[in-house]
Amino acid sequence: MKKPKLRELNEAIKSLFSRPHTTRFPREPLNMPEGFRGKPQFYEDGCVGCGACAQVCPAKAIEVEENLDPANPTRNLTHIPAYCINCQECERNCITGQGIKLTKQFDVSYFSEEEVNHSIQHQLVLCSHCGSVIGTKKHILWVINRVGSLSFAQANYIEFIQKSLKIQAIIPEKQNKEEKIEREEIFNLICPKCRRAVYLEDEKIHF
Ligand code: SF4
Ligand code: SF4
Repeated sequence: MKKPKLRELNEAIKSLFSRPHTTRFPREPLNMPEGFRGKPQFYEDGCVGCGACAQVCPAKAIEVEENLDPANPTRNLTHIPAYCINCQECERNCITGQGIKLTKQFDVSYFSEEEVNHSIQHQLVLCSHCGSVIGTKKHILWVINRVGSLSFAQANYIEFIQKSLKIQAIIPEKQNKEEKIEREEIFNLICPKCRRAVYLEDEKIHF
């Protein structure tokens, strides 16, 4: 056997009595430095459910699921750490700047995906005529708040304000959604496609 050199022997003895250079993780928590890009986290107060973060995510790590049941329409956004590359695009492009942020969490080990997948749910607003998605309630309110008095230039926003103030003109919703949209339905919450259909019909009558 080759004999150790004196310097190596000296270092080996010294290391027996000195603290290790590596961290004591996982026995002790590891504090990551500022700017470390760990697991993203949704924040209930800041997220309005617009879905922009899912659209910009290059790894498709944010899943959007919509339940279009008229009784309780919802949009679920789920972050899937298994796909996430921690690029921070979701945080940079969040329209409120407060809806999703990268944490310092890096130890994302799990037995089942459900343990680490993290979701946030929002109430959806559907077109009262065709049932397609207009947006989430929180997102529409956020836009109204941002544009202020200018929101009175948009029929749906007026509708939304009236509805929240309970001063809405009562226009009965059609039971048969297959029927042609009527002019008075313009006073209901309808999607841009249905609103356009009303305007086109109106133009046919008046020109
Ligand atoms: S950090 Fe990047 S990969 Fe991860 S969820 Fe955000 S955008 Fe997607
Ligand atoms: S508010 Fe931000 S976090 Fe919420 S869905 Fe929109 S972009 Fe994503």
